[in-house]
Amino acid sequence: MKFSNYSLTNEVKRGVDGMGFKKPTDIQFKSIPSILKGEDVLGIAQTGTGKTAAFAIPIVHKVQISSVKGRKDGVRCLIMVPTRELAQQIQDVFNKVAKYTTVKTYAIIGGVDQDPQIEKLNKGVDVLIATPGRMFDLISQGYLSLHRINTLVLDEADRMLDLGFYKDIQDVLKKLPKKRQTLFFSATINTKIKKLAYSLVNNAIRIQISPKDPVSKNVNHFVSSIEMDDKRFFLENLINKDATKKIMVFVRTQVRVERVAKAMERVGINALIIHGGKDQKERNQALKKFKEGEVNLLIATDVSARGVDVPGIELVVNYDLPDIAENYVHRIGRTGRGNQKGEALSFVSKGEMDLLLTIEQFLGKKIPQIEISKKEYQTILDLTNEKSLDDLLGQIEFEIENEGKKAKKKRNKKK
Ligand code: ADP
Ligand code: MG
Repeated sequence: MKFSNYSLTNEVKRGVDGMGFKKPTDIQFKSIPSILKGEDVLGIAQTGTGKTAAFAIPIVHKVQISSVKGRKDGVRCLIMVPTRELAQQIQDVFNKVAKYTTVKTYAIIGGVDQDPQIEKLNKGVDVLIATPGRMFDLISQGYLSLHRINTLVLDEADRMLDLGFYKDIQDVLKKLPKKRQTLFFSATINTKIKKLAYSLVNNAIRIQISPKDPVSKNVNHFVSSIEMDDKRFFLENLINKDATKKIMVFVRTQVRVERVAKAMERVGINALIIHGGKDQKERNQALKKFKEGEVNLLIATDVSARGVDVPGIELVVNYDLPDIAENYVHRIGRTGRGNQKGEALSFVSKGEMDLLLTIEQFLGKKIPQIEISKKEYQTILDLTNEKSLDDLLGQIEFEIENEGKKAKKKRNKKK
């Protein structure tokens, strides 16, 4: 089946063609006809398999063929997502699909000025993508009304329905017309969340692809035993093996992101960072530089674990294991997107063995281990320790001038 054979408008077909898509992926093949028919869909498919276009293509088609008169009366399709970067990325996909149509898509996110968003909403938007916080702000101020919405999409549905957002979603549902189409998409969904999802729709929903192994088949993933204090040396070593490699590193907390980035900086490795404590401008800039390859290392918290589609990430490093087992799948799913292949390596310290077991239970299998022999382990430490000794000497330079001078001489001698 080719996209050209679908009963989509010519304008949508042109848009899809312009994206370079010829054939639908499995999830697109199964969801597009159902969505076009008006069915509710629970679309579960592995990371990087094209879930965005699986809903964007039929939604743009449907909005285009329905009358766009009265756009100003309110948004017709609402897509809710957990993070700002994901909202912007989905907007890009919609803009591409809708390029030759009159369908207007817009993303409202927190962390940026709301006035331009209000202006856009006043002009009229067909498809609205939103993170919950800003959306509720705009609703409560009377700038956004949901009464005309006939399609609701929850991307990263399990995340949207879990504790953090569930109440928000229920509040949204109360504001939506009863007669509507509801679509859920994610790579992971557990039984509890699935039940919750079913309880939110009236008619039976179709489960599309339910992978036994939620990890993308394009991703080879491994673990290695590395002690907490040694992790930075191993990261440095990995990066220095091939500086041209695009690497995304996940760390447990915001503070640790900053720390790991500083540690890399000290050994001459430039890193971009994204976490919830950064302002949106900085987050956007970091993602842009990473996408464009200006810097090939991005260190982030789980705020970037879901949905982010940066083609060309070759390696994901779990510097720390995630607290939530599902996030393991989402994190390593930042590589191996579309037809690309990718690798992921998790650094597991003794203290993280329980987390590893939980993740393996969730996956239903053991993650292969890359054994590092004692000798190899020591060699990596020795290699990097030399540099960190340099660092230490550098610091002493600032603190004790005389000592510092000696240290410098010593270093110069070495060179
Ligand atoms: P998911 O949401 O399933 O994780 P995305 O929707 O982000 O995946 O898509 C992953 C990548 O696959 C994107 O870079 C996208 O452009 C590409 N892609 C999607 N559909 C197709 C297709 N039919 N043919 C080729 N590439 C595709
Ligand atoms: Mg996605």
